[in-house]
Amino acid sequence: MSERTASDRVVAAERREEDAAETSLRPLSLADFVGQRQVRENLRVFIDAARARGEALDHVLLFGPPGLGKTTLAQIVAREMGVGFRATSGPVIQRAGDLAALLTNLQPRDVLFIDEIHRLMPAVEEILYPAMEDFQLDLIIGEGPAARSVRIDLPPFTLIGATTRSGLVTRPLRERFGIPLNLVFYEPAELELIVSRGARVLGFDLTAEGAAEIARRSRGTPRVAARLLRRVRDFAAVGGVTRVDAHAADAALTRLDVDKGGLDAMDRRYLRCVAESYMGGPVGVETVAAALGEERDVLEEVIEPYLIQQGFLMRTPRGRVLTDHAFAWIGLRPPSRPAPQLDLLGDAS
Ligand code: ADP
Repeated sequence: MSERTASDRVVAAERREEDAAETSLRPLSLADFVGQRQVRENLRVFIDAARARGEALDHVLLFGPPGLGKTTLAQIVAREMGVGFRATSGPVIQRAGDLAALLTNLQPRDVLFIDEIHRLMPAVEEILYPAMEDFQLDLIIGEGPAARSVRIDLPPFTLIGATTRSGLVTRPLRERFGIPLNLVFYEPAELELIVSRGARVLGFDLTAEGAAEIARRSRGTPRVAARLLRRVRDFAAVGGVTRVDAHAADAALTRLDVDKGGLDAMDRRYLRCVAESYMGGPVGVETVAAALGEERDVLEEVIEPYLIQQGFLMRTPRGRVLTDHAFAWIGLRPPSRPAPQLDLLGDAS
């Protein structure tokens, strides 16, 4: 049997085919958007001010792990501004001409959303600078001696960039965003609210305790919460359970291999790998990626942020290091690093 890869996981935060169904759970206004209080409050002020002036909202950069609501917020901004919304993503824009086509088709004050903006090609990114700053497009038309440059005026627009890797957004690009916003993992109480609402939309009976159980195990991520909610509903339907309480939710999540902390088999494989093969670290992320047969990016963007936030893992200049809490979670004893000779005395606890 082949190992499950990171993106097959039920707790994977990246978007997948089946998540198309999540559209029905998407909040449509800032008032309905749960959590991220600071981000919401700031956006409220900036949107109201821009609307009052009749101007386009300043460019917004959203950063944070996948599944926290960056796309959702971008759509909400367009709605609240009462303008059009166009979406694309960094790797999709291959040539400067592709971006030019998108920009010249915008209506005044429209929102252009670019997901994974850290993955824009440099040549495309350079076109974006004058477009963002002066609403102008400088294009070279033709080739060789016949080539000439043209300048096109663009309507004022709002660029909303989203990235899971703020460190990879180049400085000149980052500096052109007037409103940088950092999304953080959700609190269990916030996720509980999202899960309860989701159950109502999906039309199934979930008790408050059942919602809390799912929320606690959703890696602080609404997309994961929505996915677990649907899986729990499936188990309930097949098992003939009409009312999902904490016990039923726990049984379903356990069968999905999602443990009490929201960690799944992949997370535990990561922890075990660092614990058993590298004595808890420090070990370089490339080494762990090779040992697990995963992409380094997946480890850094999807798996590690939650393990770090939950205190299982530390990123140090010398590499990844497991905490004692991680060893306890997977049922192993941490190596007694500071004084290994104590082991000779028998009980090293
Ligand atoms: P990102 O763009 O950051 O990867 P999305 O905006 O696509 O994340 O959000 C993933 C899903 O999670 C959405 O479809 C929506 O159903 C849900 N979601 C995100 N944020 C919230 C929230 N604050 N309240 C309720 N649901 C949310």
